[in-house]
Amino acid sequence: MPPGGWRLQQTLPDGSTKKWASMGLLWELATQIADFRAGNGLPNATAKEIVHEIEEQTCVRLHDDPSWCVSAEKKSPRAALSQRFANVVRAAAGGSRILVEWLGEGAKPVAIALAQARANVCFTCPENKEGHRWLRLTADAVRAIAEQMQAKAEMKLHVEGEEKLHACAICLCPLPLKVHVPLNNILQHTDEATLNAFPPWCWLTTER
Ligand code: SF4
Repeated sequence: MPPGGWRLQQTLPDGSTKKWASMGLLWELATQIADFRAGNGLPNATAKEIVHEIEEQTCVRLHDDPSWCVSAEKKSPRAALSQRFANVVRAAAGGSRILVEWLGEGAKPVAIALAQARANVCFTCPENKEGHRWLRLTADAVRAIAEQMQAKAEMKLHVEGEEKLHACAICLCPLPLKVHVPLNNILQHTDEATLNAFPPWCWLTTER
């Protein structure tokens, strides 16, 4: 959380200024602003774009305080991305770390049939929780998840009924991604206490 929390200021087509501020989760604020933009026919109405805008405005507001901001001029896009993912690995907890390493190491996703079978279990599981508060993600992790969702789309990984997959309240993982992750990757990056917390009907429990 940067000093003063997350804020965004936007000039609307009628010339008025709209301001948002939150001391809560960045992703929740970005989603709220995305809803406003989409509802009013405004451009850049995705949470990912808005996270980026909030980040840009935050650095302007903090006068590029090096504790919070890294100059884009000093980094090539690839180096910046590497740094971002390095930060994620340090900062993200549990499931988001699994997902970062899954893509970072180039691991292959599981077969779609297995991903679908896993998803079918999650659909009726009470731990499949709607709402971003379950993710407890840092800003870096939020960006990484958004970027990984993009990578997922490009890999055409999709299960039927994906809109019913939210976040698992046990591991705090985004389920639309987690169902594609090989079991070994999950096991290598999940602590014993979390593994033992999965209910007996969970596909993780049965696959183990
Ligand atoms: S506990 Fe298992 S089945 Fe339930 S939501 Fe989490 S991953 Fe899915």
